[in-house]
Amino acid sequence: MIISSAFTGKRYAILGLARSGMAALECLYASGAELLAWDNREELRESVADKAIIADPLASDLSGYDAIVVSPGVPLNGQPIARKAATDDVPIIGDIELFAQARPSLPSHRVVGITGTNGKSTTTALVHHILASAGVPTVMGGNIGLPVLSQQPLPEGGVYVLELSSYQIDLTQSLDCDVALLLNVSPDHLDRYDGFDAYAASKARLFDMLGDDHTAIFASNDEKTQLALHCLRDLGRVQNIIDTSASELTGQADWPSLQGPHNLQNAIAAVATVEALGISEEQWRPALASFDGLPHRMERVAEAGGVLFVNDSKATNPASTGPALGAYPKIHWILGGLPKSDTLTECEPFYDNVVKAYTIGEAGPLFGKLLADKMPVESCEMILTAVQRAAANAKPGEVVLLSPACASFDQFRDFEARGECFRTAVKSVIEKNLIGTAIQEASQ
Ligand code: ADP
Repeated sequence: MIISSAFTGKRYAILGLARSGMAALECLYASGAELLAWDNREELRESVADKAIIADPLASDLSGYDAIVVSPGVPLNGQPIARKAATDDVPIIGDIELFAQARPSLPSHRVVGITGTNGKSTTTALVHHILASAGVPTVMGGNIGLPVLSQQPLPEGGVYVLELSSYQIDLTQSLDCDVALLLNVSPDHLDRYDGFDAYAASKARLFDMLGDDHTAIFASNDEKTQLALHCLRDLGRVQNIIDTSASELTGQADWPSLQGPHNLQNAIAAVATVEALGISEEQWRPALASFDGLPHRMERVAEAGGVLFVNDSKATNPASTGPALGAYPKIHWILGGLPKSDTLTECEPFYDNVVKAYTIGEAGPLFGKLLADKMPVESCEMILTAVQRAAANAKPGEVVLLSPACASFDQFRDFEARGECFRTAVKSVIEKNLIGTAIQEASQ
């Protein structure tokens, strides 16, 4: 765990005691801070009763506190906690800001910050993997599900690789990354922002915190990413600004866990990042091939009867599904769930790669209508049915791909549960020998 003298004797209120909030509490407590903590869940409140005053920050006098530490899951726009912080004149921060404040007391190190709408986790894991393969001490933290404050501090020369959501950036004021990377920006999370511009501006704040001699990398040619790049260039402050949106990199066929145009974008961005940290091609190239990928992101679940089954359950919007369809030439595409938009615009350029679509969940009828004159579509409602139908129709060399372009909450707890359901369904069709059965029947 990270412990810092920066917090000794200070007072913090912590709101939200899930993973990152709990890590903040432990770090601050061990660093000798005075704490007030709150979570709506009683068992979480009880579990920290020996380390903090348990009280609702909204009902407490917080004047004189050094900060309110808020979990990124707590919305801030127009919420009572934002008004309370203003009334009591206390800054609202998150665990990443605490990490930024702890940095001067850590052994000399560097920080990579990675943000974007899609590809953050993959690129974070890839940068971490390349650095680790090159023998650099490194840990991952942030939105990837590993609170950075609960990590062991790195020895001198280490690199912290942080995945940063826009919510986390909103709660951070002083994180000067050595390399800051913006992958892409497409409409998402609009429920928590006053529109697309505000969401994009939130991501671009990562660069406002960047030191003049540090590196900024922009990976995509979408409008908002390029706008952030041009704004930074126009300011003329940061010396090292790299645009990888038109860069090329050969060898993708040798990287099994980095298929698709989106993963090429991620690989190019990761290479620019590690090169900025002094890693050479002899070091990064073998690491692209040995990267295992992450579960639920273009994950190769099984291959049977010549058919590859790929779990891309993490593709919760059309912008992340589009490039997944670009990864293979003959796809049986399982899509649907809780829709985030009523179009599939970003998927359209790749429709030629789809042999047939299988719709599931709440978005099924809508997607059925959108796709009806573009490709054969079967309404399946449930993942198991969709996998059975797709497997039965698939020929050797084809791919059954779950890339839903939707959130999962209509039928599942989260995208992980949806991916697990896909995995179970694939196992069952393989065990029952269902692959290609529709084609065999048709030819008899
Ligand atoms: P994030 O952490 O930003 O949600 P992930 O790496 O978990 O990103 O990937 C989320 C989804 O987006 C996956 O379905 C993945 O295939 C897709 N994806 C990954 N990289 C990109 C990219 N650069 N552009 C668009 N989609 C991407």
